[in-house]
Amino acid sequence: MDNKFPGKDISQEDLKDKFPLSSSLNKKKIIKISKDISFGGNNVPIISGPNGIENRDLIFKCCEVLEKNKLKLLRGQIYKPLTFPYRSKKYFEAGDKGLKILEEIKKNFDVLIVSEVMEEEKLELMNDFVDVFQIGARNMQNFPLISKTARYKKPIILKRHFGCSIRDLLGASEYALLEKNEKVILCERGVSTPHTHRSTSRFMLDIQAIPALKDYSCLPIISDPSHACFWHEWVEPLALGSLAAGAEGLMIEFHPDPRNAAVDPLQAINFDEFTKLIKKLREISKVLKKEII
Ligand code: PEP
Ligand code: MN
Repeated sequence: MDNKFPGKDISQEDLKDKFPLSSSLNKKKIIKISKDISFGGNNVPIISGPNGIENRDLIFKCCEVLEKNKLKLLRGQIYKPLTFPYRSKKYFEAGDKGLKILEEIKKNFDVLIVSEVMEEEKLELMNDFVDVFQIGARNMQNFPLISKTARYKKPIILKRHFGCSIRDLLGASEYALLEKNEKVILCERGVSTPHTHRSTSRFMLDIQAIPALKDYSCLPIISDPSHACFWHEWVEPLALGSLAAGAEGLMIEFHPDPRNAAVDPLQAINFDEFTKLIKKLREISKVLKKEII
């Protein structure tokens, strides 16, 4: 390959020496999650659900919406990296009690569960019910956690920290790949806003990261517009834009009563909005010769 990126943060040497496993010098990876779900090919899987599992009833309703929309990947978050430590009705995580709910979901629905791991001590417990481990933005550089999670040999979604470069993200992905777990999916979830957006948004979707990561890396790249913009009305345009920009999957937050969600009530869309969005994504995906699954 020519020196494709002259003067860029990522050089040809980086591709060979710093990211030998995740770089685009390798064959593009298609990551199989189940018999009919994979990331990185012509399918665009949607991972969706509430910010966190608040209770059994709520998550069962969400699973029904997934089934109605013929989707298979559920956000089943039980451990939450909350910015403030105070727990009240508003600041909530299911915690260990959520494991039982994950078990019930598995018994009642044909869905695959994506769930964030915060501490290595929970890996063994989660492993029984979780199909895809998520390493959240805040733990993107928790290298021991990444390595230990990778040893479970399940697919990993690695979210880019809002202050980290693409180079940093690829460096972090190598820790998983070095454990001989090839199933790493990168996720763009918004970066800290420059002064131009500071009064309108907490984070900003770095849509350019999608083509950039496809240039630099062999790993699939997905987009999380909900966490990026933090504002429900912008989720649809950013989801459509991500798909058009080449995202190989999307993570979308929805909730039966978004404004009363226990966590991040401003970013979730409701059931109707979600169903309409999936319909639009399906229409656009036809033009792109992709399939929303
Ligand atoms: C999440 O997906 O629940 C989450 C906390 O996202 P992020 O790590 O991107 O903030
Ligand atoms: Mn959040």
